[in-house]
Amino acid sequence: MSKTRGYAAMAAKSPLGPFSFDRREPREHDVAIDIKFCGICHSDIHQARDEWGGSIFPMVPGHEIAGIVTAVGNKVTKYKVGDKVGVGCFVDSCRKCPQCLKGLEEFCAVSMVLTYNGKDKEGAPTFGGYSENIVVDENYVLRIPDNLPLDAAAPLQCAGITLYSPLRHWGAGPGKKVAIIGLGGLGHMGVKLAHALGAEVTVLSQSLKKQADGKRLGADHYYATSDPETFENLKNYFDLIICTVSTGIDWNPYIELLNVDGAFVIVGVPDKPIPVAALPLIMGRRSIAGSLIGGIRETQEMLDFCGKHDIACDIEVIPIQKVNEAYDRVLKSDVRYRFVIDLASLKGS
Ligand code: NAP
Ligand code: ZN
Ligand code: ZN
Repeated sequence: MSKTRGYAAMAAKSPLGPFSFDRREPREHDVAIDIKFCGICHSDIHQARDEWGGSIFPMVPGHEIAGIVTAVGNKVTKYKVGDKVGVGCFVDSCRKCPQCLKGLEEFCAVSMVLTYNGKDKEGAPTFGGYSENIVVDENYVLRIPDNLPLDAAAPLQCAGITLYSPLRHWGAGPGKKVAIIGLGGLGHMGVKLAHALGAEVTVLSQSLKKQADGKRLGADHYYATSDPETFENLKNYFDLIICTVSTGIDWNPYIELLNVDGAFVIVGVPDKPIPVAALPLIMGRRSIAGSLIGGIRETQEMLDFCGKHDIACDIEVIPIQKVNEAYDRVLKSDVRYRFVIDLASLKGS
């Protein structure tokens, strides 16, 4: 065991503050990582405030981890000391169920081991990336392409894959019309990735405040959802709509913006059920679906795609001492477009 410093929430809704805990010594298949940067995902806030229920405290959030390998176990073959690596939302899974065998570990029939707010296979709580270092089995570690900076690549481990996976699954590419609802951490990656995949991309945002950014990120069109005309003008238009909104909104007007066979895909996680009318789905064979991050193989594919297309996140780097302030700003949609914690600030404190 080695003592590690981090920032934790000690209870739901209490601000995060300094916290020390133990990390295991690397086992034969483990990689020890010095964490350089960690993104702030809206899911960190949902969980630190126990908005989904069942949160485990103390909680060290953080599942958009980027760092450098400092030690490897004697059976590790994939990584060596000095490699640029990432860790996303989970650090283990059963490895035997049909989903794990297909590379869909996020849907593990037994249970994936969440990077934080989870329990490892020995039943100990897991602690995430708002900390100095982490020890992870090599099979759950990702390689960050050399041309991507570690800070801007950190959020790819969650925001990147959460949009890449549904874009690929629902065939975003040339000739497809894709809309992204919400230009936040996930949404801005959706715009960049859908554009790079060759789709026509539209942002549906609450206002036109971020329109210039949206176009710079790769959007072909940008509309305000506060304007009722948006819903008139875009009826039956899209093949795929991805909803990244973190709170409950009425999905029904958006479903009517889908073309025949179009899909409305939910990735944002509102805390309450949202009623959906049957007829707009029936009239147009439209579907409504959800999507959860992505498996290790697909996450690596996404990172390699980003390396090839020189795609990373638009970030605002903060010292860890500003994490509570950053949470408040995310809640006000005041983020351009991902906060990333520089963990050097923790080491100096
Ligand atoms: P974020 O940076 O806060 O972005 C959410 C965006 O939603 C905001 O920037 C805003 O965009 C829009 N929005 C916020 N409140 C709204 C409201 N009342 N009405 C309409 N639009 C609103 O959050 P994020 O980190 O991208 O995460 C988004 C959601 O995805 C969270 O619920 C998170 O837990 C979830 N998530 C899911 C997965 C998964 O695997 N499914 C993975 C990661 C995160 P505009 O200002 O442009 O309107
Ligand atoms: Zn996340
Ligand atoms: Zn499994």
